[in-house]
Amino acid sequence: MTEDAPIIWWVRRDLRMSDNEALSAAANNGAPVIPVFIRDAVVDATGAAAKWRWGEGLGALDAALRKKGSQLILRTGDPLAVLRDLVQTTGARAVHWSRAYDPDSIARDKVVKAGLKGAQVGAESFPGHVLFEPWTVQTKAGGHFKVYTPMWRAVSGRDVPDALPVPHILAAPATWPPSETLTDWKLGAGMDRGAAIVARYACVGEHEARLKLDRFLRTGVAGYRTDRDFPALEATSRLSENLAFGEISPRQVWHAGRRAAADGAAGAEHFVKEVVWREFAYHLLYHEPTLATENHRKEWDNFAWRGESDDADAWRRGLTGCEMVDAAMRELYVTGTMHNRLRMLAGSYLTKHLFTDWRIGRAWFEDCLIDGDPASNAMGWQWIAGCGPDAAPYFRIFNPDTQADKFDGNRDYRDLFLKGGNDRLGGQPAQDFFDAVPLSWGLSPDDPRPAPRVDLRAGRERALAAYADLKN
Ligand code: FAD
Repeated sequence: MTEDAPIIWWVRRDLRMSDNEALSAAANNGAPVIPVFIRDAVVDATGAAAKWRWGEGLGALDAALRKKGSQLILRTGDPLAVLRDLVQTTGARAVHWSRAYDPDSIARDKVVKAGLKGAQVGAESFPGHVLFEPWTVQTKAGGHFKVYTPMWRAVSGRDVPDALPVPHILAAPATWPPSETLTDWKLGAGMDRGAAIVARYACVGEHEARLKLDRFLRTGVAGYRTDRDFPALEATSRLSENLAFGEISPRQVWHAGRRAAADGAAGAEHFVKEVVWREFAYHLLYHEPTLATENHRKEWDNFAWRGESDDADAWRRGLTGCEMVDAAMRELYVTGTMHNRLRMLAGSYLTKHLFTDWRIGRAWFEDCLIDGDPASNAMGWQWIAGCGPDAAPYFRIFNPDTQADKFDGNRDYRDLFLKGGNDRLGGQPAQDFFDAVPLSWGLSPDDPRPAPRVDLRAGRERALAAYADLKN
């Protein structure tokens, strides 16, 4: 293999050219770089909305690469077989990628690394999807953190290297290998007509992510600590979809937050702390690969949660009769995201008032979220259900009406998704819901609001009684 043999950059959830160690190491080598995305079993197992969003991100990355004389090659199949084939046809000498930390990706990557090395091809993985590699952060007693605050204390003073710039030059190979097309892939097929609606709310690509961060630092971060719980306010960064697909790196966000804090922005330190919740989730998932499927606290295996039911269906469709929950479930379907306070509230209502297994909620979020993230989603659900590490105690049951009074006192959020036409907040998300949901749901904006599925007090007491049983 010659020195100017190409290096393959295996693109995954790292759809960016700046601060991308895998890409920079390839480009700085002076070798031609062949960016390749492989539609494999891990990609196909992704929830419908996130899979669609991945496709949008790939389109944006390809467009950005083309501006630099490069392009994204798309292939389908088993990654090792695809990469071996590409190595053979392009004469590539190495494959670079950015590490993933979920169990399916880890298992896949191990096989790929061993297979490539066995064939005398360089195979190198790089950090970047998290700030701190999970094996580098330990409690004093050894082992990973199961409580957030001590983890924050352990990492908050660490030196984080500067983010890397976009490589100056991306040399192209002498000939580009053939590529499949995003149009043929139809990554949005699982969303049906919802994709056209969610597209209006998504903010796709590295460039847009940077603009969003800059805007947030100019207008939102100062009030972040006080305003972040009010869902009708534009008070949070909304960067989760971009972080989920690596259109911005956590390191870029960390440094931007830290700079804002140094410049005196009141909420900036709190913002950086939230980014470390994402780290906490990834460290948990790395060390506890069953986080998305099994109770972290084993005693919860005996809890009598309900499985699928009409109540769970009503929850998914925003028809519980509880306004805050229904507005939240509609926000999810229309925008592909949900405000953090509402994720907690809707999760609490499902697991406690409707007494339903958290895994049913996790799966629905996974299917509908464009920021669907294997670590944060799993941790969030275990947290709200009470069975997770550092979880909200089960007996702390959110009362949706009290929460509405506190965080949506003027009804802006509820009206936005249940009533529509609120110009001050823009758009008409309430109507969008009916245009997005499957026709088979048979929903119409003229339907009367449903009666409450459960009396809030009775639901709370049922949950507490079951919890007392578990403890006994
Ligand atoms: P900001 O408030 O601006 O925070 C900045 C970044 O910090 C976020 O983009 C996110 O990456 C990270 N962050 C903030 N809060 C949390 C948190 N509680 N846990 C982990 N990371 C956090 N987040 C996802 O990115 N994907 C998910 O699939 C996901 N599922 C969730 C499910 C449940 C049940 C719950 C309770 C939370 C979930 N979260 C998830 C966490 C959180 O709700 C979102 O990260 C947040 O709402 C995104 O909005 P933002 O980008 O404006 O966040």
